[in-house]
Amino acid sequence: MLVSLFCTFVKFQYTPMKKIQMVDLKGQYAGIKEQVDSSILEVINTTTFINGPEVHSFQKELEDYLGIKHVIPCANGTDALQIAMMGLGLQPGDEVITADFTFAATVEVIALLQLTPVLVDVEIDSFNIDPEAIRKAITPKTKAIVPVHLFGQAANMDEIMAIAKEHDLYVIEDNAQGIGANYTDKNGRKEKTGTIGHVASTSFFPSKNLGCYGDGGAIFTNDDALAHTIRGIVNHGMYERYHHDVVGVNSRLDSIQAAVLRAKLPNLDAYNNARRNAARKYNKAFKGIDNIITPKVSSGCQTSCDVICDTCDCHVFHQYTLRILNADRDALVKHLNANNIPCGVYYPIPLHSQKAYTSDRYKEADFTVTNQLIKEVISLPMHTELDDEQIDFITQHIIDFISK
Ligand SMILES: *Cc1c(COP(=O)(O)O)cnc(C)c1O
Repeated sequence: MLVSLFCTFVKFQYTPMKKIQMVDLKGQYAGIKEQVDSSILEVINTTTFINGPEVHSFQKELEDYLGIKHVIPCANGTDALQIAMMGLGLQPGDEVITADFTFAATVEVIALLQLTPVLVDVEIDSFNIDPEAIRKAITPKTKAIVPVHLFGQAANMDEIMAIAKEHDLYVIEDNAQGIGANYTDKNGRKEKTGTIGHVASTSFFPSKNLGCYGDGGAIFTNDDALAHTIRGIVNHGMYERYHHDVVGVNSRLDSIQAAVLRAKLPNLDAYNNARRNAARKYNKAFKGIDNIITPKVSSGCQTSCDVICDTCDCHVFHQYTLRILNADRDALVKHLNANNIPCGVYYPIPLHSQKAYTSDRYKEADFTVTNQLIKEVISLPMHTELDDEQIDFITQHIIDFISK
């Protein structure tokens, strides 16, 4: 007893701080190791590597979790977006509106399918697509809107669904960063992101909020006919064995990845809560510092507080992203890295300025918010294993730098 007390004391006194990582997958694995290991071994022992029972069970469990009729697993989040657009029957030349401030996968698949990407500006507070900018970009060729629930917070779905209804457009939610997030609509109805539009995509890339140990993704929809179409598309356009009715792709979630996801899904809400807790601690540390703008909780959060209060279940903090005003953001990145604090700039270049996606239709004046954000944003370490000591270390270094 005494010995163990003594050891606890020594440990408490002398354990060095855990190395800070942008994402700590090892620490998370330690908590689910037994289940992950045994279910991966089970897949190997039964050699049901493709379309095994784990994939089917995961699909059902995710449908239950989200409260949606159909989850169609596929190989990654980029495929999921592409397949969703193929399923909707979008045709070359159709215009698809999406955000200028996001990861390139969204605009990439639009271009790959020879649809016309139409990038629009975002809102300064939520970092999400600006409904007013969507309205301005609509033409007779517009067929779909792709809101991205960026950094884990829902886009303004009330407005987006209203615009879509008015102009008869499809809404494809890119939920790669938002899995588990809630959105409360203007009538007080709470829904999970990815279940509001006509169809949604997600990614199970390892660092996403629900990540597997390789690549994975899924498409969600409540539309039975669309689900049927998509199930054929992911499987070479086959609806009956060796009958190829449409041009499809080969895009599968393998059974080992499904086994990992089944072990993690029951923990998803707890994982997202751990992220919210870390976000709250960051917010508290930065309170009152004028040059640091902490993430704002926007419309669609049931509790209408503009910070993360104890009862918030909306934002899932895929990233915790600050805006740094009147200070050299790039020098801050260097300062943090020099102190072994990883951080990221998501995203450093607007999509409309990327070589692959420039277009005559774009005017810089239409992207004032994105052009500002790329200079101000910095994303801090955010994962399920962050402890108070690490958060104190990170916030202190940032505050010292800013207050210099
Ligand atoms: C990660 C991500 C994707 C792509 O997912 P992959 O599984 O890497 O193909 C698409 N959109 C957004 C917003 C993402 O963050």
